[in-house]
Amino acid sequence: MKRLMKYLIVGGVAGGATTAARLRRLDEHSEIIIFERGEYISYANCGLPYYIGGTITERDNLFVQTPETFGTRFKLEVRNLSEVTAIDREKKEVTVKDLRTGGLYKESYDKLVLSPGAEPVRPPLPGINQEGIFTLRNVPDTDHIKKYIEEKQPRHAVVVGAGFIGLEMAENLHHSGINVTIVEMADQVMTPLDLSMASLVHQHLKTKNVEFYLKTAVSSFDREDDRIVVRLSSSKAIKADMVILSIGVRPDSHLAREAGLDTGKTGGIRVNEYLQTTDSDIYAVGDAIEFTNPVTGTQMITYLAGPANKQGRIVADNIVRGNNKKYRGSINTAIAKVFDITVAATGVSGKLLSELNIPHISSITHSSSHAGYYPGALPMSIKISFTPDDGRLLGAQIVGYDGVDKRIDLFSAAIRKGVTVHDLADIEHAYAPPYSSAKDPVNIAGKVAENILDGTTKIISWREVAKHHFEEMFLIDIRTRDEHQLGSIEGAVNIPLDELRQHLGEIPKNKKVIVFCGVGLRAHVACRILMQSGFPEVYNLSGGLKTFETATQKQSNEDIFANDYIGHDDHIYQGSKEKKVPEPLEESRIKDVDACGLQCPGPVLKLKNSIDKLAVGEAIRIKATDAGFYKDVRAWSNVTGNELVDLRQKGAEITAIVRKGEPVTKMPSQRGNSGSTLVCFSDDLDRALAIFIIANGAAASGKKVTIFFTFWGLNVIRRQKKVHVKKDMYGKLFGMMMPRSSSKLGLSKMNMAGMGSKMMRSVMVKKNVESLESMIKTAVDNGVELVACQMSMEVMGIKKEEFVDGVQLGGVATYLERTEEAGLNLFV
Ligand code: FAD
Repeated sequence: MKRLMKYLIVGGVAGGATTAARLRRLDEHSEIIIFERGEYISYANCGLPYYIGGTITERDNLFVQTPETFGTRFKLEVRNLSEVTAIDREKKEVTVKDLRTGGLYKESYDKLVLSPGAEPVRPPLPGINQEGIFTLRNVPDTDHIKKYIEEKQPRHAVVVGAGFIGLEMAENLHHSGINVTIVEMADQVMTPLDLSMASLVHQHLKTKNVEFYLKTAVSSFDREDDRIVVRLSSSKAIKADMVILSIGVRPDSHLAREAGLDTGKTGGIRVNEYLQTTDSDIYAVGDAIEFTNPVTGTQMITYLAGPANKQGRIVADNIVRGNNKKYRGSINTAIAKVFDITVAATGVSGKLLSELNIPHISSITHSSSHAGYYPGALPMSIKISFTPDDGRLLGAQIVGYDGVDKRIDLFSAAIRKGVTVHDLADIEHAYAPPYSSAKDPVNIAGKVAENILDGTTKIISWREVAKHHFEEMFLIDIRTRDEHQLGSIEGAVNIPLDELRQHLGEIPKNKKVIVFCGVGLRAHVACRILMQSGFPEVYNLSGGLKTFETATQKQSNEDIFANDYIGHDDHIYQGSKEKKVPEPLEESRIKDVDACGLQCPGPVLKLKNSIDKLAVGEAIRIKATDAGFYKDVRAWSNVTGNELVDLRQKGAEITAIVRKGEPVTKMPSQRGNSGSTLVCFSDDLDRALAIFIIANGAAASGKKVTIFFTFWGLNVIRRQKKVHVKKDMYGKLFGMMMPRSSSKLGLSKMNMAGMGSKMMRSVMVKKNVESLESMIKTAVDNGVELVACQMSMEVMGIKKEEFVDGVQLGGVATYLERTEEAGLNLFV
């Protein structure tokens, strides 16, 4: 009689449970035991964030099976709270620790399957083990987080790491009414995406009032007033009530390694195409294995539930039927809901292909989820990468609202089948207006790629255009005049498409001609006209102005909760937890004032004049478009004893409601004079050095320091690298004449065409004196407030994006408020 086989499985969730169920379906008579370290098996990890956020209301719904129901259905033994601690490959037995009793015992096997998953990274940062800092991997983690939220009612959470799970947590915490700050070390969220696509996510997060810091790491955690202080690499500190660490995961492969099984460079367990480890009686699946990525040919780990399930099935087949099924690897097809948008990727991103030196072309298209004439069509942005020779699809990314899921699955299937962009152009899809268009977004992506491959069109990326040189390129905005006036790329000439043929003589033939429109469609028509009219170098800006603008604008969203509320007692309340709920205000007691179009200090003056005419308790609702007003109105209300009841910004329009209060009659001494204010008016290197030496000294002695940069002083805080922003003629002229950034400043005396400043800098190096750039950074790191005068910026055509990180905009009111608190006020 055939001996009964004994199968042991380590891990009872995605990969482990699937393997066990399939094993039983193929072999009714074997002995199967699952060991699971935790209490639960076969639960929905992917649903955990949604249970925390309250979208999934029933905890029980997370459990696909219980150990009992699973055991009964499949006639197998589920030993939960049982950890496999060692594997003896010689004797073919494992050591198991019963976590209820602490007792150890051995269990023999014929075949062993490892599905231990991945563990969240928890770096040894100072203070990381204090209360309120969580990782999320399993049900107990979920229960802890949920309980903490219910009991402590946190108002502000920091999510460290902006991967798929980090963003899901951000959304779910936000959904629970918690202010969320994300801290991410990379320059973008969701690293499987390219920046051009991630920037769409950034802009969406901004609309949801999620604060996020990019290119920023957490350096430590402290505790202050029973709150967690999250200290960042930029020396900024965020006070929060809870922290979710979502920095990443790593394969839980120590058991395999200790048993002498091979692990690879990624740390994952090495398996062959039958998912057999280096021991033929031990198989492994899921997050813990590494496998050759079919697109790149490199070893990778896939942290996704779908592949773990598929591998479990293959392993069961190979164990019972002899190695008869090969695993073909995963192409990392993933999708996530990020607030209102859906973000998905499959295959390999453009940046990874570049890193791996894999030749490719990437193209971006913007389409609609369904026919534009049918109500509810929503934008969908697609980026595909393909081989330049035969057009084989290598990767696709989509950011959109509706229908992203079905398109990404199509792309995924296409990549798996080795399909080319020609096939994409041809894919036959189901079409009726509510679902798609006669040309589906997938077809359009394919057709555009086909045009690129066969030379019908040439494309250029937003990156290349962003660093363009006027001497080499001629940029044509092919949109209508009205569209052009609403914003375009700096230096572009506007020739509306329908007039292009009449203006061919004005376009240089010895330059690269770059044509763009909103998304690339009209530009394609223009490119064809130009190419057939003898222009040798014509390029369509891939993704059009939409991609260019989203990718080149400021990506992070910092400081949105800072100084959230300034109370009458002069305290700056941060975060809305302490925020006092303003007294209700009857609509009849509010007067509307329009200050749109006025520059600083116009809106504040108008507010003052209007409020002067009111009785105490009445209010002004003022609308303004001067960006500095957002900060000024708070400061002004604080200084004057009026109450800022509401402040919001929609697009460029700022609306504030200010209730008239009793006049403030505080003596200067009551305010304290522990601050220092410095006005930086000059852009001379020596003067700027003097300012920052004093500022850093004052900050070091515990003073609150504000430097107010006005007129020429603004040049001190401009970035070294040119930032592309839209400017009018005067702005451009000023820009050309003025030194850009601290590195270009000259001395006030003995500058000798720049020789003097070079000498000064070299002496400073010799004498070990910090450079000006380093002093600026030190100042920011030490909390010195750098405020750029909004009005001078307008006059000189300088935009916020041109400043180094950490600069805020403000107006006269901000400056005056700071001087009231200052014992030292210098004008340099
Ligand atoms: P797991 O499902 O993690 O199971 C491993 C099990 O092994 C664990 O329960 C562990 O306790 C147990 N174990 C480990 N070592 C031992 C031992 N020595 N003895 C006994 N037991 C042991 N993927 C998606 O595709 N889409 C999503 O939307 C998605 N969302 C996610 C959300 C969250 C919050 C998390 C944590 C993961 C998410 N994933 C998602 C990833 C997905 O859950 C994993 O890829 C999948 O579960 C991996 O399966 P696995 O069997 O390898 O590991």
